[in-house]
Amino acid sequence: MHLLYGEGNFYAVNPAFFLHLSFKFCSMSASAKSLNFIEHIIEEDLKNGFPEKQLRFRFPPEPNGYLHIGHASSICLNFGLGLQYNAPVNLRFDDTNPIKEEQEYVDAIKEDVKWLGYQWDTECYASDYFQELYDWALLLIREGKAYVDSQTSEEMASQKGTPTEAGVNSPYRNRSVEENLSLFEGMKNGDFEEGTHVLRAKIDMASPNMLMRDPIMYRVLHKAHHRTNTDWCIYPMYDWTHGESDYIEQISHSLCTLEFKPHRPLYDWFLDQVVDPDKVRPKQREFARRNLSHTVVSKRKLLQLVEKGIVNGWDDPRMPTISGLRRRGYTPESIRNFADTIGIAKRENVVDVSLLEFHIRDHLNKIDPRVMAVLNPIKLVITNYPEDGEEWLQAENNPEDESAGTREIPFSRELYIEREDFREEANRKFFRLKLGGEVRLKNAYIIKAESCTKDESGNIVEIQCTYDPKSKSGSGTEESLRKVKGTLHWVSIAHAVAAEVRLYDRLFSDATPDSHKDREFMDFLNPESLEVVTGYVEPSLAEAKPGDRFQFQRLGYFNVDQDSSEDKLVFNRTVTLRDTWAKIDQK
Ligand code: ATP
Ligand code: MG
Repeated sequence: MHLLYGEGNFYAVNPAFFLHLSFKFCSMSASAKSLNFIEHIIEEDLKNGFPEKQLRFRFPPEPNGYLHIGHASSICLNFGLGLQYNAPVNLRFDDTNPIKEEQEYVDAIKEDVKWLGYQWDTECYASDYFQELYDWALLLIREGKAYVDSQTSEEMASQKGTPTEAGVNSPYRNRSVEENLSLFEGMKNGDFEEGTHVLRAKIDMASPNMLMRDPIMYRVLHKAHHRTNTDWCIYPMYDWTHGESDYIEQISHSLCTLEFKPHRPLYDWFLDQVVDPDKVRPKQREFARRNLSHTVVSKRKLLQLVEKGIVNGWDDPRMPTISGLRRRGYTPESIRNFADTIGIAKRENVVDVSLLEFHIRDHLNKIDPRVMAVLNPIKLVITNYPEDGEEWLQAENNPEDESAGTREIPFSRELYIEREDFREEANRKFFRLKLGGEVRLKNAYIIKAESCTKDESGNIVEIQCTYDPKSKSGSGTEESLRKVKGTLHWVSIAHAVAAEVRLYDRLFSDATPDSHKDREFMDFLNPESLEVVTGYVEPSLAEAKPGDRFQFQRLGYFNVDQDSSEDKLVFNRTVTLRDTWAKIDQK
C-alpha cells in the first residue's frame, strides 16, 4: 500500500489505479489483509506487555458542523480497531468552543455514527471535564508551571519569535503563585472582560517547537455553552483539553490527523503534569487526513456553502457530508468499503470521487430492484397494437438476485422512450432505434420504427412503429428468441407515474477546489451540479417511500427523496450506471 502515499504532500491518485487496487483488495481474504501502521503500533505495544484488555479508543468530533466523508475514515479506523480488539470506543464531543458549537450538531453526529453501523461504548463530552481541568490548572499554577498573562493577543504574538528565532518572555511570566491564583479565580468568576487575561503554561519561549512557547490554556469567553450554559466564562484550549480528556477516559491510543503531530510534545507535556504511573497513559499517533476530489472536506467550508445558500442545507445530496450521502442514496456498507479500500496513510493525498462511486455502484448493483423510468421522453405509438389494448408483462426484479422475484409491468399502444434512443438516421454502430431499424423493448416485444412526426420547428414529437406480436420476451417462440442488437427501456404512457427527478453532478468542476493559492474554493463551483427534470416511472413505484432505492434500467441508481409526498414522487440520482453506450455509439 505504500505506493499510495506518494512523494509530495498533496497529489491526486489515479482512479483507475484505485479500481485495480480495490479489485485486488476484494479478492484477498480478510485474514490475508496486511496490518496498517497504526495496527503495527498497537501490536508492538501488546508485544511489549501492554494488556490487551486495556485497549480503548475514541472518536472525538467537535460539534461545530456535520460529519463528512473524511470523518468516515476516522470513524472506521477507531471503531474498526474497537471491533478488531474487542475494545471499547468512546464517542467524545470535543466541545470547548461555545462560539461555534451547537446541540443540533451533536444530534446529527450521533445519528451519522449510528447509521454508519457503529456503536460507541460511552458518550462523553469534554465539557464534563471542565471542573477537573480547572482543578488541574490550579495545580499547575501552584507548581509554578502556569501563569496569567495580561497582555493583548497582539503583544503575545509579537513575542512568539519564529521557528529559527527564540521568543521573548512575557513581562507577566514571573508573577507570584498567589497573584496567579487570584487572577485565575477572578477570570473564572467573571471579573474580567474577554481578551484581558489568559492562562498560559510556563514551558519554554526558546523551544524550537513554537507550540511549546508558553501555550495558552484558558481564555475568558462570556458565552453560553450548549451544555454547561453560563456555568463557565473561561474555556480551556484544545491542547490542554484533549490529552487530559483522553487520560480521564483512559484511552490507550489517541488517533488524530497529521496536523497534530507537532502538538504531540505538548500533549505529552500536559500529561506529564497529571499522570498517575498506575494508570494508562494515552499515546497520540497521527494519520493523514483524507481528501476527496471535486469537493471540500472541511466543516468550516461546508458551513459557508450552507450559509450562502449554495446548497440546500448540510444534507443536500451534493454535499460530501454523511447526511448528504445518506440522502443521496449511499449505503453505510458502501462508505465503509470505501474507507476500508483507501485505508490509512502517512501522507495527505486526494482520493478520486470515482472510487467512492465505484463502491456505491458495486453495492447497489447487488441489492437494488430494477425498474423502468424514462427521464427525457418522446412518444412512441405502436400502430398495429389494438387501440385500447393493455397487457401485463413479467419482469425480473434483479438479475443479480433470484430471490428478488418478478413483478408485472403494463404494456399498451402508446409508450415513452428516451429521446436519445431514437434517430431518424444513424450509422451501423447506433444500436438503438432508427427509421427502418428494429430494437427489443425490454421485457416486451421487438418493434420496428416506420415513421416519425415533427412539429413546426422540426423537432420530432412522435415515432410510429410496428411490433411483432410473436416476439414477446420469455414466450419461447422462435420470434422471441430472435436477436436484435439494441434493447430499450420504456414506460406505458397511460400507466406511468410522473415524478420529479433530481440529477446531481459534482459540486465543484475542479478536482481540488481548495488547493489554489490565489483563488477561493467557491470560484470552482459547478453551475450544473443539479438538474431537475420530470420523469415517468412505471406504476409499481407509485407507492415508493422515502429512502427506497431502485436501479432505473440503463440510467443509474436512484432513491426516493424525503421531499416526496403522497401526491408527488421525488427521486435523487445516487449515481449513473457506467455508460456502456458511450463506447458502443461512435456517433
Ligand atoms: P474539519 O476541518 O472538517 O472541521 P476537524 O479535524 O476540525 O475537521 P473534528 O471534529 O475535530 O474535525 O474531527 C474529528 C476527528 O476526525 C478528528 O480525529 C480528526 O482528526 C478526524 N478527521 C477530520 N477530518 C478528517 C479527514 N478529512 N480525514 C480523516 N480524518 C479526519
Ligand atoms: Mg476542528
